Amino acid sequence: MKRLILLVAALTLGPGCLVAAAADRPNIIVIVADDQGYNDLGVQGCKDIPTPNIDGLAKGGVRFTSGYVSGPYCSPTRAGLLTGRYQQRFGHEFNPGPAQTAGPEMGLPLTETTLANRLKQAGYATGMVGKWHLGYQDKFHPMKRGFDEFYGFLGGSHSYVNAKADMANPILRGTEAINEKEYLTDAFGREAVAYIDRHKEHPFFLYLTFNAVHTPMDATQKYLDRFASIQDEKRRTYAAMTSAMDDAIGRVVTKLRDSKLEENTLMFYVSDNGGPPVNASNNQPLRGFKAQTLEGGVRVPFFVKWPARIPAGKIYDKPVIQLDISATALAAAGIEVPADAHLDGVNLLPHLMGQKDGSPHEKLYWRFGPQIAIRQGDWKLVRHSGSQELELYNLADDIGEKNNLAQSQPEKFKELQTAWNAWNSQLKEPLWQAPSRRIRTGTD
Ligand code: CA
Repeated sequence: MKRLILLVAALTLGPGCLVAAAADRPNIIVIVADDQGYNDLGVQGCKDIPTPNIDGLAKGGVRFTSGYVSGPYCSPTRAGLLTGRYQQRFGHEFNPGPAQTAGPEMGLPLTETTLANRLKQAGYATGMVGKWHLGYQDKFHPMKRGFDEFYGFLGGSHSYVNAKADMANPILRGTEAINEKEYLTDAFGREAVAYIDRHKEHPFFLYLTFNAVHTPMDATQKYLDRFASIQDEKRRTYAAMTSAMDDAIGRVVTKLRDSKLEENTLMFYVSDNGGPPVNASNNQPLRGFKAQTLEGGVRVPFFVKWPARIPAGKIYDKPVIQLDISATALAAAGIEVPADAHLDGVNLLPHLMGQKDGSPHEKLYWRFGPQIAIRQGDWKLVRHSGSQELELYNLADDIGEKNNLAQSQPEKFKELQTAWNAWNSQLKEPLWQAPSRRIRTGTD
């Protein structure tokens, strides 16, 4: 029967669409880390924090070395990830701010359809564990945006220890505030494993968004003890928080393996933005950090793994972006997206399976208030918070954005500026503004 369905799918959709066969629909897990530095995983070159489980995701699949997010900040990139669209198209350019000051319209606009909506409609079980950060009002709650189940918190950050139901921005199970006694990263791992166990008999989508390694810098002694050799206290705590997340991801992978689901599970791992100075992260060799359109703010650890379809151990350097997660997951699930959905992300599978040679994106774009950027091939035009001027870099020779070629390459400068202006003309004004203090310090 399975073969017949595959054959029908192949005849109907063509050989490139074999992954669309309904009988083989993969499970889909999207893991998001928070404020992780580009150089803070073993596979990314990190020497002081072992991350064998997260490294395993990269080694078992494809590691993107030019993997981007569509903004340098938490909430906007999550809006882009879950919609597959540049978030500035629908005004979600900035963070909604803390619960106390967020206006009633600050959240992922209800005009937008999420990846969870589309997968749920196609029959997937849909669950979320972790940080939401796409609005506080009931109408923005994850279970109103396509998720059947939710365990986590609605805000942009959360303490990791002794979470009480009566605190602002509490941990919620569904819509009910609860006390959480475990270290929060451990709890998210526990809930993710339990979710897989509940849904192992049918295709599921799990959106697992750790708040690690975002501030506050909380770690338990168990994890701190692993890094007694790190002298800098903040870096030691950051290492401990990273190690806890690595353990939690290890438990998720072990659960998949024990349930014989690993082979046909499509897993993504991405950080929502680059590391900020405040958590002692390391973005080397990139310049800049969270809240900037320099590479350090928007180029992030990014991997995809699907043993049934994607070759293991591959490194892919053509630029990709977290917007591609939705388009890729939907293609893997055999779900056709109507053209009027206007996704900006592309299905990466043909590129990763050796069926397409070209670059998935001719250009990538950023706008974050007055900060902008565009990448085309190896070229990048950028205006960042450290400069009023547009700067031009060739990333092939200059990944650290040190040698500004704006004066010596006026034609390339003009070409990229014109292309960015054309994209910008399609965007909406931001639905809300970000307080400048938060943009400057990167503490939200
Ligand atoms: Ca973040």
